[in-house]
Amino acid sequence: MTSAARDSTKRGLVVEWFVGGGEVYRSKFRAFEVGCVAAFFYLTLEMGVEVVVGLGATPRALWYVAPVGLLAYVAADFVSGFVHFLADTYCTETTPLLGPKLIAPFREHHRDPLAITRHDFIEANCDNCFTTLFALVPTHLLVHAAGGGAATLFSLFVLLFSIGILLTSIAHGWAHQDDPPWHARALQRAGIVISRARHARHHEPPHTSDYCITSGWLNPLLDGVRFFHHLERALAAIGIRRGS
Ligand SMILES: [Zn+2]
Ligand SMILES: [Zn+2]
Repeated sequence: MTSAARDSTKRGLVVEWFVGGGEVYRSKFRAFEVGCVAAFFYLTLEMGVEVVVGLGATPRALWYVAPVGLLAYVAADFVSGFVHFLADTYCTETTPLLGPKLIAPFREHHRDPLAITRHDFIEANCDNCFTTLFALVPTHLLVHAAGGGAATLFSLFVLLFSIGILLTSIAHGWAHQDDPPWHARALQRAGIVISRARHARHHEPPHTSDYCITSGWLNPLLDGVRFFHHLERALAAIGIRRGS
């Protein structure tokens, strides 16, 4: 991340015990980054309450909670792989705007895979929180989550999808920790978040498989049908080429 300075002092906050990392980090964008994380938690909490009210108003919708949750988590895994593929493949670290903020962290991660294990909670998650605001804000403003029925289920999808996107960097960090906390190991063993062994495949050069980093459930399917290879060829056909 640009304009950032760090030292090896650990803060030891509860949140950093939970997700790992915690190295002290300073950035001139710190206030904006903290604001994005705070907005994420405020909106998800408020939408969560409204969704519970909406489900209470239409008990039949409860039957759809598990399928909607599964769909949202799979969608988050797909988006984690899709964005990862784009950031690894296109533009460069010096591309204006996108380069320092989006491309550089992914490229740095291939050079120094353990950097993610040192990041504090804000640094590791602010970009994901910022991205989810594009879904959370309009949904919160335009959809009456407490109204029941389809509106509640749609809000539930956006809510759980956003939480899945937040989990992306956390699960990815756990996959690189030598000694992740017990709850992370339990989730990895259950296959709910991506394991160290499964994610290690992406770190083998040329880094062109296993892009999904939340649960990693979609990696066998996407790699099996060579989804990203075909996508790269399709984009090349319209003039969008690797590294440009
Ligand atoms: Zn990568
Ligand atoms: Zn990694």
